[in-house]
Amino acid sequence: MSYAGPEFDPPRRPRRRPLTVALAALVPGALLGWVAYEAFGGSDGGGGTDRAAAATPSPAVSSPATSGTSGDDEKPSPGPTDGTPSASAASGPLKGKVVVIDPGHNPANFQHTAEINRKVDIGTGMKECDTTGTTTNSGYPEADFTLDVAHRMRTLLEEQGATVRLTQDGDRPYGPCIDERARIGNEARADAVVSVHADGSGTGNRGFHVILPGAVNSGSADTRPIVAPSKDLGERIAGHFVKVTGSAPSNYVGDGTGLVTRKDLGGLNLSTVPKVFIECGNMRDSKDAAQLTSGAWRQKAAQGISEGIVSFLRG
Ligand code: ZN
Repeated sequence: MSYAGPEFDPPRRPRRRPLTVALAALVPGALLGWVAYEAFGGSDGGGGTDRAAAATPSPAVSSPATSGTSGDDEKPSPGPTDGTPSASAASGPLKGKVVVIDPGHNPANFQHTAEINRKVDIGTGMKECDTTGTTTNSGYPEADFTLDVAHRMRTLLEEQGATVRLTQDGDRPYGPCIDERARIGNEARADAVVSVHADGSGTGNRGFHVILPGAVNSGSADTRPIVAPSKDLGERIAGHFVKVTGSAPSNYVGDGTGLVTRKDLGGLNLSTVPKVFIECGNMRDSKDAAQLTSGAWRQKAAQGISEGIVSFLRG
């Protein structure tokens, strides 16, 4: 929101992309890309984790887009906020499908440390309501990145006929808390939920990774029914992300697969619908940061994630 750094191209609005048509061609390509990258996937240990990732879900219906955060005041799409299919969602291959996008953190979280530090129950224990997220070394906040990518994804998915909801749109003072973020997807009976993040790891740690829910059955958390479909969703997203962005899977977690399974994220633990996180890159690495701060690259990231979702929803 206060950031004014490199490249803020507002997501161009229509850009009708033949997502689905392209899909058939992309899948094999994505797999090839995947294999190619796996060959490169080294791992230099480490394992920076996005503190933010630790924070997950919460509700708060998003609405028309905020201003301020990234020149992204595009399109207040009619309808999607309340789950009611909008005119644009009335047709298309994803008609009837509900996708919840969870933009990690909140641009104003840092002004509400007491509130976001409050502990909430994630089934396996207690965890902070939310976190501030990370930034690039030049100060581009992760929370701005996540909202921007979420807006771009919303446009792409609505073009496919999906009903899209955001858990927050910079339209609330902080949060939502991770338990609420999960609840929003659950109550929307989402067919797929993706929580968008960027990591804050060490210099030299590069690449993206998708976080899958591990099997948890504790307290209010029972992920057992969503483990398999979430893995399918995550693998498809990873494959398409490689293909569209050209980014390699993380070189510091996931052993080069771009996939990591975790049981400590409230946003995953409390989900009752297929859900994954994606850490699109490492904001603290200068090469990754150059991509993350590029509007053109964010468009590719949004497209890669969206194509993975489309692939999952169309089976
Ligand atoms: Zn994060």
